Amino acid sequence: MSQIHTHQHDAIIVGAGGAGLMAALYASKKSNVAVVSKLYPTRSHTGAAQGGISAALGNVEEDNWEWHAFDTVKGSDYLADQDAVDVLCKEAIDAVIELEHMGLPFDRFPNGKISQRRFGGHTNNETKKPVQRACHAADRTGHMILQTLYQQCIKNKVNFFDEYHVVDLIRVGNAVAGVIAVDVATGDFHIFHGKAVMFATGGWGRCWEVTSNAHSLTGDGAAICFRRGVPMEDMEFFQFHPTGIFKLGILITEGVRGEGGILLNGKGERFMEKYAPTIKDLASRDVVSRAIFLELRDGNGINGQNYVHLDVTPKTVNKYFELAGESRRITREDIEQKLPDIADFTRTYLGIDPVEEPMPIQPTAHYAMGGIPTDVDARVLADAQGNIITGLYAAGEVACVSVHGANRLGTNSLVDLVVFGRRAGMHIAENVPHMELLPLPKDAAASVITEFERLRTSKGKHKPYQLRQRMQKTMTDNVGVFRTEESMNAALAELKQLREEYMGNITIDDKGRIFNTDLLEAWELGCLLELAEVTAYAARNRQESRGGHAREDYPNRDDENWLKHSFCQKDDDQFRLDYKPVTILRYQPKERVY
Ligand SMILES: Cc1cc2nc3c(=O)[nH]c(=O)nc-3n(C[C@H](O)[C@H](O)[C@H](O)COP(=O)(O)OP(=O)(O)OC[C@H]3O[C@@H](n4cnc5c(N)ncnc54)[C@H](O)[C@@H]3O)c2cc1C
Repeated sequence: MSQIHTHQHDAIIVGAGGAGLMAALYASKKSNVAVVSKLYPTRSHTGAAQGGISAALGNVEEDNWEWHAFDTVKGSDYLADQDAVDVLCKEAIDAVIELEHMGLPFDRFPNGKISQRRFGGHTNNETKKPVQRACHAADRTGHMILQTLYQQCIKNKVNFFDEYHVVDLIRVGNAVAGVIAVDVATGDFHIFHGKAVMFATGGWGRCWEVTSNAHSLTGDGAAICFRRGVPMEDMEFFQFHPTGIFKLGILITEGVRGEGGILLNGKGERFMEKYAPTIKDLASRDVVSRAIFLELRDGNGINGQNYVHLDVTPKTVNKYFELAGESRRITREDIEQKLPDIADFTRTYLGIDPVEEPMPIQPTAHYAMGGIPTDVDARVLADAQGNIITGLYAAGEVACVSVHGANRLGTNSLVDLVVFGRRAGMHIAENVPHMELLPLPKDAAASVITEFERLRTSKGKHKPYQLRQRMQKTMTDNVGVFRTEESMNAALAELKQLREEYMGNITIDDKGRIFNTDLLEAWELGCLLELAEVTAYAARNRQESRGGHAREDYPNRDDENWLKHSFCQKDDDQFRLDYKPVTILRYQPKERVY
């Protein structure tokens, strides 16, 4: 039998991406914090974020946080909670300056101020033209954020448990007492006993076939909470980013279009002029992904294939700048300096030099708008009525505050991490001293240990990767950029079948305990299957189209019946849905025109 070790800290933060590290930094100022991460912290997906982090600094042209807030609400297709959006956009300014003061090497304008560029959906609210709001460090903004925060955590002596895979939450009534983790190196189980637990475990793009997400993004934190009775909010909304490398899904940042890059179909048409006449290629992601999907379906792919071109070559871009009467021009040096990683990716993976040739792209599963419901202090909600689970927090992609509503604007995830990660950390620091350390329930780790033994020793027919491929196929075909009742019924039937096979007919090759990634991946598949099912179920239920949720059988947004958040829970193997009203302050829902 594996050994069980116990650790005690005031607060346990699960995940060491931008949200987890920001929270750890603040929480550790007044409490004893453990950060438990299945990856070495600087390998978290935040490090892959490319294009930028928005804040209305107004460093180059007029801007203010209310414009940022309006764009975020409009981008969300009016589903975002406007009180939370105000917090996001107001506090973004201070959070970015704080990162700068921590030493983050942002790109700068010649006058020394942080450089800002255009990004999809970010506008001057008066002229409706794109505004330069995205602060960036070349196209490695997330890498710089992660490194900066990790260094600060080390300086502040945060306790790190690297390569510890959290597999269960210890819930005691309406409160929490810690988590259970597997030490990847030894296979031993560890109980982390604490007064507060925070999940900052990122997204679950691996539910789909073509995704920009790292292999590690398997939705563990969301699935663990769901199994322990926490509702999942707005799971039907998953973002497809318009520009993933054809077949591979690797992301090509929207920053490429921010610098002037344009989308062209097989007929050489700049097709976004048709779908978003004012803002064109810089419309919000849901709009651009659907446009690409429709072009492909109409046979307008390049040479009839399943991709279109993203063209940032100076030859093409400068022609369009001239046509638009703009004085700016793009050069080879601009591409090499502002988009070095993108240039490197396309040269390495495609053998294409983006200075000379366009890039083949297709939509790629990118970002979970939904997740663990929280209030603006990152406290987890027990239900749609807004009751709190004592001591449980969530922030970052795994959480749903909700600032992104039905569709997230580019750059707003990094803002979300630092703003709500910081608020979580502050709340933990203030409250942990007065909180009670609940006694651990007897045999707290028993059920998860039994599940691991089942997976390790089962002698079924299917390998986890086979089930995973089937799940990814059905999610891509049936719960993708467009959906219908029929397609989602097909997905739900297949997912049910997959769940039965996962529970009763699976086998893994590695039967050992040491560094058994085969076993951990099998366990992760269980999380993906769980979240795929919740997504398909919530999506079938929502009979309208809004943001990232586009139904061919209900093509219109229906504010009368559906201007509300969905909360999905599972009782005795049955899904149950409840609803929470959207908080509307200054911006009344309108039709979105880009
Ligand atoms: C390629 C790419 C480019 C992007 N570019 C941008 C951009 O330019 N601007 C922007 O705003 N957003 C961007 N995004 C989105 C943004 O980067 C992510 O939403 C964000 O970084 C998520 O951060 P996080 O802190 O929530 O989680 P992550 O950074 O994903 O970190 C998750 C952490 O949880 C840990 N973890 C997970 N499961 C477990 C477990 N079971 N046990 C223990 N630890 C666990 C992992 O080890 C990791 O430390 C991009 C995303 C991708 C994929």
